[in-house]
Amino acid sequence: MKNTANSNDYVAAQTGVTPAVQAKGVHKAFGSLHVLKGIDLTVMPGTVTVILGPSGSGKSTFLRLINQLETLTGGEIDVDGEMIGYKWVDKDGQRVLQTLDDKQIAAQRAKLGMVFQRFNLFPHMTTLENVMEAPVHVAHKSKSEAREEAIKELQRVGMGDRLDYYPMQLSGGQQQRVAIARALAMHPDIMLFDEPTSALDPELVGEVLNVMRSLAQGGMTMICVTHEIGFAREVADQIVFMDGGVVVEKGGPEIIDNPTEPRFKDFLNHVL
Ligand code: ADP
Ligand code: MG
Repeated sequence: MKNTANSNDYVAAQTGVTPAVQAKGVHKAFGSLHVLKGIDLTVMPGTVTVILGPSGSGKSTFLRLINQLETLTGGEIDVDGEMIGYKWVDKDGQRVLQTLDDKQIAAQRAKLGMVFQRFNLFPHMTTLENVMEAPVHVAHKSKSEAREEAIKELQRVGMGDRLDYYPMQLSGGQQQRVAIARALAMHPDIMLFDEPTSALDPELVGEVLNVMRSLAQGGMTMICVTHEIGFAREVADQIVFMDGGVVVEKGGPEIIDNPTEPRFKDFLNHVL
């Protein structure tokens, strides 16, 4: 595997800055299906990582592991320097791994916002109600504070003039922007995007990518699974190409125009 000297592992080691996300030898199996086979990845705060790779290579599974929607079968993931899902405790003079309780897991998950391919908005709630839902019912904010913040987040994604619309009255691109605002309303440190534009009509892709671009420019730490190579080239600090459950190549955005590994070259020839 190619691992260039400007990779984030190197940056973390040289600067002593705690990575936002660090995956160490991550494995995931579903029964006998071994989906992830030793993923190492470091994401520094305030940077954008784009994960590329063919369908079935384990990209979504990897994001779901970071967000604890799945559990690891091997290796470790740290978020903000803290191991997710487990902690080491002393038991009878031995250090053993203990599973975190639901409250501790919820606290870790609160650091992450996730946006999926399908918008997953609540259909019976307006735009504003969708964005207020978690701040009120999960973060226990007052309705007036949640409302004020929700309006701010909706303005940020260009949806400030659609507060009382229902999802079915919005285009796919607008719904996806509301989904982004909904994630942002919980003030995550890190945003995970799983093919956020793949379900959109081509003419609606740009408005969602623009929102993601401005988030990146604002310093948000982002991990994006996407096939939008132009976005990757322009916005990513780090590109990761996965295939068959392993990282085949990673480096700066320049590797898109200068890939080393044959499988990555092949992939780019198909998507470009
Ligand atoms: P990608 O996002 O790169 O297309 P996925 O992570 O969705 O890949 O899937 C990787 C592999 O894991 C696929 O073969 C998929 O069928 C399998 N897989 C994903 N989730 C599950 C699950 N919950 N149970 C069984 N197999 C799964
Ligand atoms: Mg996927």
